[in-house]
Amino acid sequence: MLRQLLQKTIPVEPLPGFSQAKMLRLDKIDPLISGNKAYKLLGHIERAQAQNVLRLVSFGGPFSNHLHALAATGKTLGLETVGIVRGYEHLPLTATLQDCQAYGMKLVFADKKQYARRYQADYRQQLADEFQAYVIEEGGAGSEGLKGCELLAPYCQQFDQVWLAVGTGTTALGLAHALQQQQSGCRVVGVNVVADQGERRLVWQQAMPGDNWHLIDDYHLGGFARINDSLLQMIRQFDALGLPLDPVYTAKLVYAYQAELQQRSRLENQRVLLIHSGGLQGRRGYSL
Ligand SMILES: *Cc1c(COP(=O)(O)O)cnc(C)c1O
Repeated sequence: MLRQLLQKTIPVEPLPGFSQAKMLRLDKIDPLISGNKAYKLLGHIERAQAQNVLRLVSFGGPFSNHLHALAATGKTLGLETVGIVRGYEHLPLTATLQDCQAYGMKLVFADKKQYARRYQADYRQQLADEFQAYVIEEGGAGSEGLKGCELLAPYCQQFDQVWLAVGTGTTALGLAHALQQQQSGCRVVGVNVVADQGERRLVWQQAMPGDNWHLIDDYHLGGFARINDSLLQMIRQFDALGLPLDPVYTAKLVYAYQAELQQRSRLENQRVLLIHSGGLQGRRGYSL
């Protein structure tokens, strides 16, 4: 059922102010389910359902788009969800966690030491046993996370480049694999929102030989979730034009596209699709 939802046609709209660019509005999938996280969850959820496991556990911080998407998807599909939340419980809960709870997610707070164990097999097994659940990696990463992202490839057909924000890089990697397989001429341009000293680039070089992708490292503004006045100003400009952006991912994507367009005149002739990967629920953490 999640697959059907993600296979329906998602709107592709003009990017206001840029005649040669369009935007794929994954923020408009469904009233509850929004953004790329739903695509990353698809492979995990189908695997859990194939194993007849009806409860899902995953990890995230108090503003996590991933936990939010997991809770919303669980509510929509009738699956139980448990969120292991980084840090101690602070009341009132963040708006993100309040939503998660309202969607029926059980929240379990984990201190720094416990949260750090989230990649360890014995801890994951312990959670699987305790909750009789399928355990999903933080952010929906991993090989199961790649699968659903292939569903984004058909949108790229009429474009020379597809631009998207890169966190773990799972969405971009899944999409680039699919485009490579289809021998598409469309190139993936990733805007890294994490200051990772070239780590993502190394991983991609190993996972994706070939040149159908390009990673831009210049627009993270100092690191993950860092913002500055010009970014906030740009978000307000786009708000006024009817295009809401989130400060962590999609605003940096549009910021990067704008800046690169000014520096590289050849980019003007390229038909570009930007992916709006959602994350709008996170605006509340920035009083937007
Ligand atoms: C998680 C997220 C991304 C990054 O996706 P990755 O697959 O981790 O690269 C981009 N945009 C939004 C809104 C997200 O929540």
